[in-house]
Amino acid sequence: MAIERTLSIIKPDGVQKNLIGDVYRRFEQAGLKIIAARMLHLTTAQAEAFYAVHRERPFYKDLVRYMTTGPVIAQVLEGENAIETHRKIMGATDPKKADPGTIRRDLAASIEENVVHGSDAVETARQEISFFFAQADVCPRTR
Ligand code: ATP
Ligand code: MG
Repeated sequence: MAIERTLSIIKPDGVQKNLIGDVYRRFEQAGLKIIAARMLHLTTAQAEAFYAVHRERPFYKDLVRYMTTGPVIAQVLEGENAIETHRKIMGATDPKKADPGTIRRDLAASIEENVVHGSDAVETARQEISFFFAQADVCPRTR
């Protein structure tokens, strides 16, 4: 297994419900290290660009609206097999289908308002990290 980096977002519903600490605790307990973090309120243009891959999907407009309703926290997670580990901790997109103990099953309200985002592959992780962070904003752990 390789050391990977992945992009995580706590979405507006997660921030609103004061779940930042709960979500971070799950990352840290799984051995994932936060090596960059930033709070921002996405503009419509930013949300459209971030989710451009879904632009033909019926839920795209609502997704963009939801992602701009409040601030989000974006972070870079690093660790062994980080992309898959992170996706496992998040659980399935639809909280009703997510395994017990996952973030979405435990904390999410619906398939849309599902608290977190996580990159799904090495190439998308690289692109999504650079969407939010300059290289100088990423802090590799020196201890
Ligand atoms: P994410 O990309 O946010 O990590 P995901 O990879 O599990 O989630 P995607 O299929 O990439 O799921 O969908 C992106 C986001 O769009 C979902 O997290 C959810 O917020 C929203 N979404 C996905 N499917 C639906 C749907 N059928 N109805 C409403 N919203 C949806
Ligand atoms: Mg996705």
